[in-house]
Amino acid sequence: MLVVMNKNATSEDIQRVSEFLEAKGFEARVSYGEARILVHAIGVKDVDQRDFELLPGVNEVLRVTTSYKLAARVSQGCDTVVEVNGVKFGDKHAGLIAGPCTIESYNQIDATAQELKDSNVKIIRGGAFKPRTSPYAFQGMGEEGLKIIRSVADNHGMAVVSEIMDASQLDIFMKYVDVLQVGARNMQNFNLLKELGKIHRPVILKRGLSATYEEWLMSAEYIMAGGNNQVILCERGIRTFEKFTRNTLDLSAIPVIKKLSHLPIIIDPSHATGLRDKVEPMSRAAIAAGCDGLIIEVHHNPDCAMCDGAQSLYPWQYDLLYKQIKQIAPIVGKEII
Ligand code: PEP
Ligand code: MN
Repeated sequence: MLVVMNKNATSEDIQRVSEFLEAKGFEARVSYGEARILVHAIGVKDVDQRDFELLPGVNEVLRVTTSYKLAARVSQGCDTVVEVNGVKFGDKHAGLIAGPCTIESYNQIDATAQELKDSNVKIIRGGAFKPRTSPYAFQGMGEEGLKIIRSVADNHGMAVVSEIMDASQLDIFMKYVDVLQVGARNMQNFNLLKELGKIHRPVILKRGLSATYEEWLMSAEYIMAGGNNQVILCERGIRTFEKFTRNTLDLSAIPVIKKLSHLPIIIDPSHATGLRDKVEPMSRAAIAAGCDGLIIEVHHNPDCAMCDGAQSLYPWQYDLLYKQIKQIAPIVGKEII
């Protein structure tokens, strides 16, 4: 349930509504949007909403009928904008993240960052804990890798995105990482999602390999229910019968999520297609469809990459793509810096 306050509601009115909700067994959470003040009733209770409509300062009471509440479009008057190192995701902004699949060495990250800097990249990605299908494949450099990417990013004025695989890694990630990525395989790792709800750092929540929009938004709800609103959804391709591409990029997710939720949605064309030459057209298409950003794998020398070289762009390809999407974005009312 959502209590929409009048524009001129006083802080006493808001306090009264919150206390009334708490007395009925809800947790009350107030959000101050540009257009309106909302009091969210968190929890599932059977109440008569007219009791709330009569309270001073209340404009209307809405029943949120979707299973996700805080993530629902109706629960916020405007789009959520997540800002990282001056880069914005959401509303009129499309943000860009680029970097290798995996952190391999200081030299590799440094060489890639040097190149990306020339393409105005402000947020670098790189995995240190890798969810590999085979237990025999390279599993990542662990904390050592995070130290490397942190130090390179600091040298180049960049922020760091890296994938967290387990709640037990949270302390390490808080030391080195600005944006915590939840991988497709962990989209329903509810313990991890609950822990990420307690931090005040942006989270990129990838869509599970076979997850529906509702399941994906319910996972976002887990993070938001804990108090962390800085969630960026990431479509990274879903599993279908088609084997030619690694996954099938569901571009419909962009308009669908925009209708269902106020959260930003970005696209990962690298894991979606698995093929470098498909990354560029799909990135252009995603920007044209109004996504709020892209996360793209780039390696300074993809032919020697330890992981996902075939889907990693050469830095010159990224630069070309950057210039193209920068031109496409304004056509759909978006800005890329
Ligand atoms: C990744 O981004 O490195 C990754 C493993 O992605 P996904 O979880 O989408 O497979
Ligand atoms: Mn990868």
